[in-house]
Amino acid sequence: MRLRTYFIETWGCQMNRHDSELIAGQLRAHGLAPALSAQGADLVVLNTCSVRERPVHKVVSRIGALAGRPEPPVIGICGCVAEQEGASLLKRSGAVGFVVGPGELRRLGEALTALDREERPVLTGFDAADTTAGGEIVRSSSTRGMVTVVEGCNEFCTFCVVPYTRGRERSRAFAEVLAEVRGLAAAGLREVELLGQTINSYRCPATGADFAELLQAVAAIPGLARVRFITSHPRHFNERLIAALAACPKISRYLHLPVQSGSDRILARMHRRSTRAEYLELISRLRRSVPGINLSTDVIVGFPGEEEEDFAQSLALLEEVRFGQVFAFAFSPRPRTPAARYRPQVPEATKTERLHRLFELSDRISLELNRELIGSTIAVLIDGDSRRDQWWWQGRGEDNRVLNFPKTGREAIGDIVGVRVVAAGAHALIGERPSLSALLPVLERGIGAA
Ligand code: SF4
Repeated sequence: MRLRTYFIETWGCQMNRHDSELIAGQLRAHGLAPALSAQGADLVVLNTCSVRERPVHKVVSRIGALAGRPEPPVIGICGCVAEQEGASLLKRSGAVGFVVGPGELRRLGEALTALDREERPVLTGFDAADTTAGGEIVRSSSTRGMVTVVEGCNEFCTFCVVPYTRGRERSRAFAEVLAEVRGLAAAGLREVELLGQTINSYRCPATGADFAELLQAVAAIPGLARVRFITSHPRHFNERLIAALAACPKISRYLHLPVQSGSDRILARMHRRSTRAEYLELISRLRRSVPGINLSTDVIVGFPGEEEEDFAQSLALLEEVRFGQVFAFAFSPRPRTPAARYRPQVPEATKTERLHRLFELSDRISLELNRELIGSTIAVLIDGDSRRDQWWWQGRGEDNRVLNFPKTGREAIGDIVGVRVVAAGAHALIGERPSLSALLPVLERGIGAA
């Protein structure tokens, strides 16, 4: 069957979203055009995630649903489930045409050529000296671009599949990253998001330059208004990076810094190599150098052996730090990871109950922090229409908070405009454009177009 159209379904993290842009680039280079939905596509690519158990089940049931259609599409499996399950996915259904892991995405064109010959290729594994970055990319946003800086991870936290599904850490060359970002700025994108599982352990393979140097060089590229990065590991955060954040106004006043647990006993079992006290000390240094920085974190609830006292320490840490956003998950045992064999496993009902309590607390704190912003004026980069209403815009402030506000006819996608906050929820702010005279002080602070 000649494939003419494709549709990509993406699960999981920012890295996967960016991989989908790379997949789209390769499919287009092979002559395929995007379809509006999976329903009408000749090829459906499932770009999968296996960080938690449920997404794996979802992929299997999605294969069943697509393959059960009267005229099933060809199904391509990419992402972490492809790496983890490999050739066994071909047995799930005859409709599965190829399996390509995250380390082999640049060879997707080869897989498509093999598919044309009616083969069912399986490409997995990693080249330790290589990264998947640099192929043709179809950008999904006209305002923000994602750029891979580090792939894979060497940390081997005992709960995490990433070192197995994305391989060991590989940093891209400094010059290569800068060239890609310059290309995005020249194309008119206003914000760049640098990606890596432990981005702050970056080391240029050619010069040894560290992440602080790279971040400053990226921020100095003309045309870019903002630079963000994700994800940082607490144990790799050094003074040079804090100084870069403090010195450069283009670097977003937002930092995602996973803590995973507030209990030293659990942190040691997780192999985080960073204690509660070290984490809190890092937060204090960050806040002293970058006042008002918006912090978010990841927390795992119900890690094997987590007692009520350990969980209470996670809640207490949330109270103490007051994160703008918390991404919390119930522990799920992942194949090949040490924690899957740890005992005792926490009962599911206990995990659910703890997760519920944690979300109640984090939502309360997020709401309180957001309410403190009511009445202030924020420089918002407009991303597009608000999901709630086409007569509203949605954008993000310098600290990454989401803000929705009514359109006035004076702004366009990609503009950075002053918006006064008039109401707050736990997960987003509501604003309005102030009069031009009220905007003057904000303009004087140099926010760009208003
Ligand atoms: S730092 Fe730990 S949790 Fe993060 S990707 Fe690496 S192994 Fe996974």
